Amino acid sequence: MPNALQSAQYDVAIIGGGPAGCSAASWLQQLGLSVALIEREAQLCAGLQSLQFGQDWVLGSPGQNLATLGQQYARHIEGLAAVQVLLARKPSHLDWAAAEGWCMQLDDGRSLKARALLLATGLTPLRPEIFFPVSASPNPRLMDALGLTACRDQLPPARILLLGGGDNAVENALFLQARGHQVTLWSRSDWRAQQSLVERLKAQTGAITMRPRSAMPNRLSAHASGVGVQSQQFGDEQFDHVAVLLGFEAEPSAWLLAGDALQRAGVTAPSYPFRDEPRFAPLGLFVAGDASGHQHPSVQTALGDGVVAAKAVEAFLRPLTEGQPTLAMRRNNRQIIHISGLRFGANLGVLDFEREGPQPIQVDAEVNLGAQAIVSRDADIGHVLDYRRVRAIIIDECTAEHTDLLEALLGKLCTRLMKLPGVAGVRVKVTKLEIFPDCQVAISAECGQW
Ligand SMILES: Cc1cc2nc3c(=O)[nH]c(=O)nc-3n(C[C@H](O)[C@H](O)[C@H](O)COP(=O)(O)OP(=O)(O)OC[C@H]3O[C@@H](n4cnc5c(N)ncnc54)[C@H](O)[C@@H]3O)c2cc1C
Repeated sequence: MPNALQSAQYDVAIIGGGPAGCSAASWLQQLGLSVALIEREAQLCAGLQSLQFGQDWVLGSPGQNLATLGQQYARHIEGLAAVQVLLARKPSHLDWAAAEGWCMQLDDGRSLKARALLLATGLTPLRPEIFFPVSASPNPRLMDALGLTACRDQLPPARILLLGGGDNAVENALFLQARGHQVTLWSRSDWRAQQSLVERLKAQTGAITMRPRSAMPNRLSAHASGVGVQSQQFGDEQFDHVAVLLGFEAEPSAWLLAGDALQRAGVTAPSYPFRDEPRFAPLGLFVAGDASGHQHPSVQTALGDGVVAAKAVEAFLRPLTEGQPTLAMRRNNRQIIHISGLRFGANLGVLDFEREGPQPIQVDAEVNLGAQAIVSRDADIGHVLDYRRVRAIIIDECTAEHTDLLEALLGKLCTRLMKLPGVAGVRVKVTKLEIFPDCQVAISAECGQW
């Protein structure tokens, strides 16, 4: 355990001190590893403090209050000798080098080094630009999910519009209606909340104004006494408060720093939207909790995911201390799937004879899987991208329907292949083999990272 923070060296740096980060920190110290836990708020599990309601998932302690649980997790972690807790701090810069791992600059100018980096930075509410333009100054009458949770207990009875149809929106509609608010619930789709919430909502027909399957408003304009809402379907309306509850995305701040660090080191970086991918593990980059997108976001799953991440970090660090392949060797192990000379008939082209039936084409494709761990033993086919799937997708995409332009077909192929798990980049070339008697014509495209 280092004494001074200046250039302090740890086995693992964890960014984010919510349930996932705390759970991982606890396991990592039990595995004998030193940990720096960096949290931008002034306390650990800060997000749970505004959730003052009981939880029945805590086995043996039904009705446990989430805020109390958060305080218990924080006390536990603060009592662990091998975990250095850094509160009210966030990273301002990250560097990654194959031989050394991660070097982190904190916002107070100090720095630390760690061989592994775990992102446990949770989610952030979606704030569509159309409702929260960057130019507009914040107005407490127009809220996102966190803003509403923080103040919903204190709001005097009012006319409230909730945009959204998931768990959060429906739960808030029921909560606010029970406290005397005049609630309108507006969703672009059918209600997507869990069945029990939807049943409770339907029991409030009449008490809550419900607008399922309604196109979202075109404009929200917050002012001192309320929020103007403009939509094609309902015209101009006024509410005292509006909350935009359209879901969450991975909190981007730390992801972006890690991505920049990898990019500068010449390694395929995470792309947006951020998701955990096995290809990051050989670089010593791990994700846990809500930020990983592995599971339904909840405290219990975040705690479990923290444990899973801690074991993955340990598995990464162990070979380094046992003289196994170095980080640099692992990093260079970029893998690419090549599909060459795949020939079949496709309905393609704008010429009359091209519209009459399929013509022979050839597709050549490369699929970049980025840095991969060195695999010296046979593993389950389920752990790799099966090249049969790549071949089948190419044939399916080219034969599903008639496409006029070769360029459009390339676009469809790139889009479909880029969606496969772990794919960082795609190169495709499509050749019309018999379009002219004296030559072939081909167009190629490249997208993603190479
Ligand atoms: C309104 C609401 C109600 C909910 N109700 C329930 C419920 O009833 N039951 C339940 O089980 N779950 C509930 N949840 C979900 C639950 O809170 C989360 O699933 C859980 O907290 C996820 O834990 P986590 O550690 O992955 O992320 P978080 O708890 O979000 O923790 C992430 C931490 O990372 C920190 N952080 C982010 N970026 C940085 C950075 N760059 N530098 C430093 N620190 C950073 C944040 O400050 C935060 O403390 C609710 C969530 C919300 C928003």
